[in-house]
Amino acid sequence: MSTLHTHNRVAIQNIRKQFPALQQTVHGKPLVYLDNAATTQKPKAVLNAITNYYQHDNANVHRGIHTLASRATAALETSRVAVQRFIHATSAEEIVFTGGTTASINLVAAAYGQTQVHAGDEVIISHMEHHANIVPWQMLCQAKKAVLKVIPISEAGTLLLPALKKLLTPRTKIVAISYVSNTLGTINPLKEIIKQAHAQGAIVVVDGAQALPHLPINVQDLDCDFLAFSAHKAYGPTGVGALYGKKALLENMPPYQGGGEMVQEVTLAHTTYNDLPYKFEAGTPHIAGIIAWQEALNFITQVGYSNIMAHEDALHTYALELLSSIDRVRIVGTAPQKISILAFTIEGVHHLDAGMLLDAHGIAVRTGHSCTQPLMNFFHIEGVIRASFAIYNTQEEVEQLAAVVARLVQKN
Ligand code: PLP
Repeated sequence: MSTLHTHNRVAIQNIRKQFPALQQTVHGKPLVYLDNAATTQKPKAVLNAITNYYQHDNANVHRGIHTLASRATAALETSRVAVQRFIHATSAEEIVFTGGTTASINLVAAAYGQTQVHAGDEVIISHMEHHANIVPWQMLCQAKKAVLKVIPISEAGTLLLPALKKLLTPRTKIVAISYVSNTLGTINPLKEIIKQAHAQGAIVVVDGAQALPHLPINVQDLDCDFLAFSAHKAYGPTGVGALYGKKALLENMPPYQGGGEMVQEVTLAHTTYNDLPYKFEAGTPHIAGIIAWQEALNFITQVGYSNIMAHEDALHTYALELLSSIDRVRIVGTAPQKISILAFTIEGVHHLDAGMLLDAHGIAVRTGHSCTQPLMNFFHIEGVIRASFAIYNTQEEVEQLAAVVARLVQKN
């Protein structure tokens, strides 16, 4: 594996030192954490920001005039600007804090869908979506008597793009598509999809959950209408995420949940709603998580997406080389444009047995359908073993994974 030079090794070791959770043993073996697509580990800066908030600034936001409330509010709003800049949104009003990707997609499906989708209209998703980008649209279509259409995929795990042209009609209101597949690792040709959808007058909702950890995102360049993403998959805290939406669309949407914070004036008979983005932020948010999210974004900026991509790509290529040379291992998802997710099956070995044996060696991987059951059905499999790599993973960890898999195959 020539791409990982000594200099890189030192840099990666320095990065690893920032992650306390990586310094532990599991079943007596050093932890090899390869379940990053489910959630990444968190650097000290993120952990410190959470502790610091609760120790010094803990107060509710936007509600008090006392010092702690002002500090907490200022820190939360600084985070909003950090998120805005990170994804190159035009204004901080376009960033709605949510509980994560799932909450963001549900927000669009409920609020945008409520007024813009009617009986006989169409919503398009793809066959490789995470359940979070399937079920909210099924619920919307069911409620509105709208039609849910699906972009088919190839055996390699790429979208069959010519099919989209045929699926799009003047009745298509929404195309909801993942930037990157959480099971296959496929990077979808978003710009082309967005261009085609807009040409038919449909808006595009992007599930960016698996893109944020690996790829720079520019919502203006993509021209997507909504982008849903989570902090925890990109070194940030769990339970926090955002919905980016074009201002004009957010302004025209009715509120999603009612409650405190999203209102301007409430009488018992009538309520007027707050401005963007607060109209969509009912209730007390995960203040500590939102504030700490900035630190995760800083971490990515400091390391740099180009370094992240180069390192993860090298690990992925190496893992692919080692695993595909093992008898009875079948790689699931072989698209030419992929991020560092490697799903595979082992003929004659159940994925759960493989997962348990790997865990016994301190190796954490995902096993099962990875919240993509329609994809499992497509490949006629029950589940996969999924190794997903982050910036802190090493060549040795890839070798350990491959060695345990090879032993497993030999014994079964
Ligand atoms: N979409 C994709 C592609 C994902 O990988 C995930 C998480 O696994 C989600 C959506 C849901 O993210 P969250 O659980 O943070 O809401």
